[in-house]
Amino acid sequence: MPNIKKLIKELPKAELHIHLEGSLEPELMFELANKNNIQLPFLNIDELLKAYDFNKLQDFLNVYYTGMSVLIEEEDFFDLTMMYLQKCNEQNVKHVEIFFDPQGHTKRGVKFSKVITGINRALKEGGIQFGISYKTIMCFLRHLSESDAFDTLNEAKDYLHMIDGVGLDSSEVGNPPSKFQKVFSEAKQMGLKLVAHAGEEGPPSYVEEALSILKVDRLDHGNRSMESEQLINRLRSEQIALTICPLSNLKLCVVDDLASHPIKKMLKQGLLVTVNSDDPSYFGGYLIENFNAIQESLNLSEDEIVTLIKNSFIGSFLTTKEKNKCIKEIDTYLDETQGQ
Ligand SMILES: [Zn+2]
Repeated sequence: MPNIKKLIKELPKAELHIHLEGSLEPELMFELANKNNIQLPFLNIDELLKAYDFNKLQDFLNVYYTGMSVLIEEEDFFDLTMMYLQKCNEQNVKHVEIFFDPQGHTKRGVKFSKVITGINRALKEGGIQFGISYKTIMCFLRHLSESDAFDTLNEAKDYLHMIDGVGLDSSEVGNPPSKFQKVFSEAKQMGLKLVAHAGEEGPPSYVEEALSILKVDRLDHGNRSMESEQLINRLRSEQIALTICPLSNLKLCVVDDLASHPIKKMLKQGLLVTVNSDDPSYFGGYLIENFNAIQESLNLSEDEIVTLIKNSFIGSFLTTKEKNKCIKEIDTYLDETQGQ
């Protein structure tokens, strides 16, 4: 194995932008559909995979909501979460901050309690089994109203010990961050961390809104920040972490090809960028595949890879002490393997 591939595989990594429902593999989707008597609009896995030919975010979201409709019982959420953690274990991902979309389930009549307890039970069990630490981020679907988001936040009040932050996802254009100003402010008062998807398809002004109006602690995607010198300066001086998702960007045509992906420029500009898989089952790869693809396409150096991996811990919601411990493990690995 070339050195850089080995480095990517063996270094302990963190993932900060992963939608749990986007890790639903086709096999599990059909298995759960059978078990729960859900009629999918695809006859078999081949037909499903043909629907994974996306031109934009909304094409994907349509398939994503159809896919998650097979999740009914607490056990289903447990199994899905456990499968993702197994994948993390195989890829040496040691810390995860997982998004979930409760409204995608409660709108179908699945109780919030089933969703959160299934996920939390797997995180606890799998976390111990595999030695993976975790945070849970509850996302609001931005195509729904702010009042809907408030209903979800209220439902979450009995489960705050299982939730670390709130996020904002789903159809970006036409649903600016400012639409959710009040609910984000309330979540902050409840002690939750704040993140939001912005600047994936939406304009730089959405990134500005996420920072100034929602007051996010971290930004998801943020690719289009690069169109604004002012935003670049702000992201650099405040060291706001950006969760970049290379294969997602490619699949959803946010970039024409990975060779024109902005992540290398972002690194050179001193931005705190990280690599993530977004919806790995739908976009063709988990964390390592994302690292390998972007490394090859942009010819990223070992130093750049190490920076990206360290950034994934620095940009996480771990404590400073925990972050330092993870960075030290990376440095120890590098010291021990140097010259090999
Ligand atoms: Zn995402």
